[in-house]
Amino acid sequence: MQKTLPRKYTPEPASQIAKDMITRLTGTKCPVYEDCTDTDPGHYDHFSRFEVVDDADASTLIDAGMVANSGSDVGAIVYLQNSEFTDTTVLRAKTDKVRDLLDRVERMGDRVLGVDAHALEAIDERIKDDLARLVSLIAYRRRTAITLTSGKSEFTEAEAAQESEAAFGLATMALDAAPP
Ligand SMILES: [Zn+2]
Repeated sequence: MQKTLPRKYTPEPASQIAKDMITRLTGTKCPVYEDCTDTDPGHYDHFSRFEVVDDADASTLIDAGMVANSGSDVGAIVYLQNSEFTDTTVLRAKTDKVRDLLDRVERMGDRVLGVDAHALEAIDERIKDDLARLVSLIAYRRRTAITLTSGKSEFTEAEAAQESEAAFGLATMALDAAPP
């Protein structure tokens, strides 16, 4: 598989994993929520936030994050802009719509603003990114399915093995989806 997927086996992910382990071992990583960005040891309120900003005035175009306050009766929430979610299914229904909206905006941009060679490069880039995203999504589905069937038992399969498996799965699905 290293020959088939050489891009996946670069030093960068390895170094990121090492850094992540160090923060966990030194106790600066939140022990409750993987997504929490508070690094204070023993904190009770958890949060994270990320955003995309407008180039012109650096205002927030869209932001999202999570909050889990110790005193809250709601429990943890995930927010997208001003909407708060406590249910994964409801959240997914909304992120699907936002994803569709972004696709429509891009196509509209091509029609209204016109296309040139840059548009082709951008589409190529998008195909590459979406393929990588699909491989990662298939691997994530596999991990989730194993977690669901084996209860709380430790997930031992190596991440590289999952990604390789997912890439083959995607190739098979692509052949199935293509017209004969
Ligand atoms: Zn935390």
